[in-house]
Amino acid sequence: MRPFKYTNAKDVSSAIKLATGNPNAKFLAGGTNLLDLMKEDVERPDEVIDITRLGLAQIKTTDAGGISIGGLGRNTDAANHPLIRQHHPVLTQAILAGASGQIRNMATNGGNLLQRTRCPYFYDIAMPCNKREPGSGCGALEGINRMHAIFGWSEKCIAVYPSDMAVALAALDAVVKIKGPNGEERSVAITDFHRLPGDMPEKDTNLSHGELITAIEIPKSNFADHSYYLKVRDRASYAFALVSVAAALELTGNVILQARIAIGGVAHKPWRATKAEQMLVGKEATEANFKLAADAEMADAKPLEHNKFKVELGNRSIVRALQMALDGGKS
Ligand code: SF4
Repeated sequence: MRPFKYTNAKDVSSAIKLATGNPNAKFLAGGTNLLDLMKEDVERPDEVIDITRLGLAQIKTTDAGGISIGGLGRNTDAANHPLIRQHHPVLTQAILAGASGQIRNMATNGGNLLQRTRCPYFYDIAMPCNKREPGSGCGALEGINRMHAIFGWSEKCIAVYPSDMAVALAALDAVVKIKGPNGEERSVAITDFHRLPGDMPEKDTNLSHGELITAIEIPKSNFADHSYYLKVRDRASYAFALVSVAAALELTGNVILQARIAIGGVAHKPWRATKAEQMLVGKEATEANFKLAADAEMADAKPLEHNKFKVELGNRSIVRALQMALDGGKS
């Protein structure tokens, strides 16, 4: 690991000021991804700014009836908080499907959103990777790309974004609250927070250097009784998703008033299945309609050489997640 300066930030404004003053500085929260990347020589900050003591960990209701989750709260605390379990069980399920208990105890909510791809070529500094070193090429494009994207990829990068938590937050239309260098605050819809790779795969999100995630807000909704997070992976725990689906339904009788579907493991960001969602509104909640919606969404997939299986897997996962949501996660 390369030498770096460690700075302990006392409050939010001084943390932001420190980061703004050094373009090679990184915020350090749980450290569950950043420290791995530094040890692998992928991330090379010359300063880490410890933000763990800034007091941004609270979970509370908002004036609009939603729930605010502190950016520096721990993943475990978010998953197990009574407000989240009661109103957004799909988020609890998604967080608990990620990583291991030990990692969730350390990882923060803001850090979860900022975790970087697990593309093996990104981690191997002997291989070309446009995300790690812009202009060097993409080792995965002609390499082993079984775990890679089937939606929204570019010739520059085919990586997928690894978070489970963000997939549930995308289905719930969460909003990321951000504080910037001059004290200004802004809100970004989670669906606009992460980027597709395009010509700049080195940029994972629309967060600028020096900006800090202070909270994540989830608006009030009526999905608690009919939601589910399904994660399909190579082994039962401590593995990233081949495909995951956060599904949520609002029903009147058996007719769908609102449907939300977000897919993980298929793109550079949580993939909102808007085509499938629109097809389900006003329809009976039946397996046949779920299948039609899944077919329509997955028809746009563009698989790579080694991940064609993800198209059928994604199709079946959407149907299964919707069935589980319909049954209140019990079937
Ligand atoms: Fe790098 Fe993206 Fe290619 Fe992986 S897919 S090697 S992260 S450019």
